[in-house]
Amino acid sequence: MFFTEKLRPRVDSLDLPLLTKKNIKVAVLRLDLVDPVVSGNKWFKLKEYVAEALAQNKPTLVTFGGAFSNHILATACFSQKNGLKSVGIIRGEKAKNLSPTLKSALEWGMDLFFLDRQSYKKKEIPLSIWDKYPNYYLVNEGGYGSLGMKGAKSILDFPDAEIYTHILSAVGTGTTLAGLIEASTPAQKLIGISSMKKNLGLENEINALVSEQNKSRFDLVHDFHFGGYAKHDNSLLNFMNEWFALTHIPLDFVYTAKAFYAFCKMAEQNFFPAGSKILLIHTGGLQGNDSLKKGTLIF
Ligand SMILES: *Cc1c(COP(=O)(O)O)cnc(C)c1O
Repeated sequence: MFFTEKLRPRVDSLDLPLLTKKNIKVAVLRLDLVDPVVSGNKWFKLKEYVAEALAQNKPTLVTFGGAFSNHILATACFSQKNGLKSVGIIRGEKAKNLSPTLKSALEWGMDLFFLDRQSYKKKEIPLSIWDKYPNYYLVNEGGYGSLGMKGAKSILDFPDAEIYTHILSAVGTGTTLAGLIEASTPAQKLIGISSMKKNLGLENEINALVSEQNKSRFDLVHDFHFGGYAKHDNSLLNFMNEWFALTHIPLDFVYTAKAFYAFCKMAEQNFFPAGSKILLIHTGGLQGNDSLKKGTLIF
């Protein structure tokens, strides 16, 4: 089955003037290349949930997300590839034109239900879903939870992962960062760049997923949200194009561009001591760029 595949994501070393100047080494873990649809960290976060649903003989996965959610699309595709039905409960009224994300989710066999924002906030499963899919397995919004963390731990399951002094990743729910923390050595520093504005509960939510000795063994940076979740401006879009021109690595505007922009700013401000070896996690999410106007990006 798809979820039992062992993945070996590619590690790309970067060669940039900034890094030479600061005497630091940087590599990018290319989770964006693991699967064209179940991109990046979503593959890792979902696999333990799918394994659990199958073990419990639950034929359907139900989860929550917004109209542009990478998690929704990943759940649709990953479920189908593992022989499960999937249901997405989507925030907000149904739009006349479905987003590219939701259209793809339908193509991967997901059934969609739309909830007004107030009901969505309460995360109540509509009764119609109980009726239609009585034996479902629920995955939290964004895949938040212990099984998501457990799956994300295997992101660092590659040779020489322990040589890095710093590991940096974009953060949404914090599930991926929690897995990285659990899989890292005590000498490694973990840095999470929050893609949301003032998501101040994040630290507690991450601490709830990690073991006692790892609590608060990470730094969260809240200054690079560019106005809030999925918000962006020209400086971010310009950065994405410049980064691609220099490295040939495409970024998404919701998560990875903000994280990699933050990394560049932090490096310029000498956050990383000379001799540091930094691993940037490319968490994927490139499908989200489909919602940008054509021609905005050079890739
Ligand atoms: C979902 C997502 C994240 C956030 O992952 P969490 O585990 O929720 O913190 C980061 N990057 C990309 C590209 C994502 O799609």
